[in-house]
Amino acid sequence: MSEPIRVENLTVTYAVRTGLLRSRDVLAVDRADLTLARGEILGLVGESGCGKSTLGRAIVGHARPASGRVLLDGLPTPRRRPPGMRRRVQMIYQDPGSSLDPRRTVFQTLAEPLRAHRAVPADQVGPRVRELLGMVGLGQEHLRVRPRELSGGQRQRVAIARALAVEPDVLVADEAVAALDASVAGAVLNLLRELRERLGLTVLFISHDLATVRGLCDRVAVMYLGSIVEEGPVAEIFASPGHPYTHVLLDAVPSRERRRPGGAPLGEPPSPLHLPPGCRFHPRCPAAEERCRTTAPPEVRRGGRRVACHLAYEGV
Ligand code: SF4
Ligand code: MG
Repeated sequence: MSEPIRVENLTVTYAVRTGLLRSRDVLAVDRADLTLARGEILGLVGESGCGKSTLGRAIVGHARPASGRVLLDGLPTPRRRPPGMRRRVQMIYQDPGSSLDPRRTVFQTLAEPLRAHRAVPADQVGPRVRELLGMVGLGQEHLRVRPRELSGGQRQRVAIARALAVEPDVLVADEAVAALDASVAGAVLNLLRELRERLGLTVLFISHDLATVRGLCDRVAVMYLGSIVEEGPVAEIFASPGHPYTHVLLDAVPSRERRRPGGAPLGEPPSPLHLPPGCRFHPRCPAAEERCRTTAPPEVRRGGRRVACHLAYEGV
């Protein structure tokens, strides 16, 4: 069986105004490759502005690639995806408040996609809405309620239920718990785990929070200035990161094994308008060598891992 999501050599640019009448294309995602296996939860991490949301949006079909392609179940997606293809990948966002219509009750919010996209017969809509509510751990008492009467966690559950209404194979969650209190976030993460088990959902979990990724994901991909610089199983990467950038990110995460408080401060990433030559991480890399300033590192693959760094597996 082919993978639910395969991203090949994907580049996404956006225009940035550089003067009164001038604009320039800036790379948001640069020749990214990424594959999601069925039923896995893949974490996509990196600093804000590194392109992870744009990559997520391109996978859902909300951002248009400049080159490269996204395949769903082995089939290349056309520029305009037909509804049957669009339904298969759904996105949930950090702020469900802004993605839910404030005038609609929970029932109306969940009934709409059932009627519009699944052609559910009228007498089946009610039972199906109740079933969806149950799946996300909400009770019947929420049916007539509007978003402002719900807590942040409840709103995120409604947003997840709405995504599930169209029976997707893949969920792209962009900072989906970042705005929630720790205990509420934990409950929503448990829900994602449970849905993966129950429905066999494949999840791309976009987050800047590595501790959360560690607890939730099977694999992780690390993005830096538009490129995926490292990818592999979560346990392996957290135990021994292969890329200096991953190292620095992990050093900032409190953990049982690492008592060291914070790593070397990274400072601000370079502007995507002025991408450094060679390895893009070299101006901030504690391990940079002369060749890093001039030559982009190759991607080295070993086992289930890949690392784009001149020093990867050197001397091993
Ligand atoms: Fe650092 Fe060089 Fe590796 Fe880039 S290629 S991450 S600059 S050591
Ligand atoms: Mg983002």
